[in-house]
Amino acid sequence: MADEDDQRVVDALETLVSITEKSGNLRKDLRTDILETISVLRKVFSQLKSKLKNANEESKKLQNEVSNAKESMARGGDSRSERQVAPSLDHAQQSPSGEARQVLPPAGGRRKLYAEAVKNEGTRQYRITLKAKDGTLSTEQIKFQLREHINPTNIKVGIQAVRTLGDKGIQIETGSEEEINKLSTEISGKLGERLEIKKHTLRKPRIIIYNVTEEITTENITAIIQAHNPEINDNGEDIIAKFRYTNKKGRYNIVMEVGPKTRLQILQTKLKIGWEICNAADYLTPTRCFRCCRYNHKSKECRGEETCPHCAGKHKMKECTASASEQKCINCINFNRYNKNDKINENHSALSRDCPSLKARTHKVQEQY
Ligand SMILES: [Zn+2]
Ligand SMILES: [Zn+2]
Ligand SMILES: [Zn+2]
Repeated sequence: MADEDDQRVVDALETLVSITEKSGNLRKDLRTDILETISVLRKVFSQLKSKLKNANEESKKLQNEVSNAKESMARGGDSRSERQVAPSLDHAQQSPSGEARQVLPPAGGRRKLYAEAVKNEGTRQYRITLKAKDGTLSTEQIKFQLREHINPTNIKVGIQAVRTLGDKGIQIETGSEEEINKLSTEISGKLGERLEIKKHTLRKPRIIIYNVTEEITTENITAIIQAHNPEINDNGEDIIAKFRYTNKKGRYNIVMEVGPKTRLQILQTKLKIGWEICNAADYLTPTRCFRCCRYNHKSKECRGEETCPHCAGKHKMKECTASASEQKCINCINFNRYNKNDKINENHSALSRDCPSLKARTHKVQEQY
């Protein structure tokens, strides 16, 4: 399941919860019914997701086996392995992009690398913030409510930390995404009427692999990386190829979504892809303003108008009432305004990673290396 789909379902359920909560004259029993139903939907969705994940893992294993088998067939009696051959190609394949990891793009100001972005986060990747809906509960009372109604052991969730955020509520941290999902579902089911739950999600790092040949595609690159780079093969993290595009050398760059361990391994090893060593770097995206959603400046320097990233309306994101199907991207709308003959899709959130305007700009940033 694509992350965007995933996020859309989560958002849609979130919207239902918030609409239900806002409608003050809704009968209390109806409200409870709706919230309970949403909680059931969340559970089912999370189960479906984990089934899908298992199926994907299974298929990846099979792919891997096929690719290993092909490899050993191709090698035949030759005892030389590609791994012995590949390093000698290293020098020839070295391109200036090998420096990309350390270099920040010249334009657009200071940009954080993923490592920097996550450094301050430590292991605190899976967190929720709880706030009293009507502001009447103190943080102590919120904690009391949690102790009364939620038993982490029963739902098999390990709590790693509970922090008080002044009068802004409390933050809870768990060790995995699955646990934070379970906990959110449990809290929204039992205390959803009183507490506002906000989930923090940390995006997975993206890596760009430079200059692969035409035969390397988004379909086969994961299996090829795993077959040729044993250290990356078995760390339990997913490697998902997102898209491929042609570069100036007439070859291809591929953008992959990986876990943090895989990211480090890819950046620190000589990545072997087929017979070649490929350069890889963090896939950096251009700065986007939180206020107006336009690129290449920050909200502090913004001279534009407040623009909602979900619907392109002139309001803050938290005031947005647009549904997932009503999403509009201001950057793509603007592009289409000036490119009437070559229109791109504008029906997505300006925050979407698949936004064509974002992709075009990101490629420009990457090509500077
Ligand atoms: Zn702005
Ligand atoms: Zn909006
Ligand atoms: Zn867009």
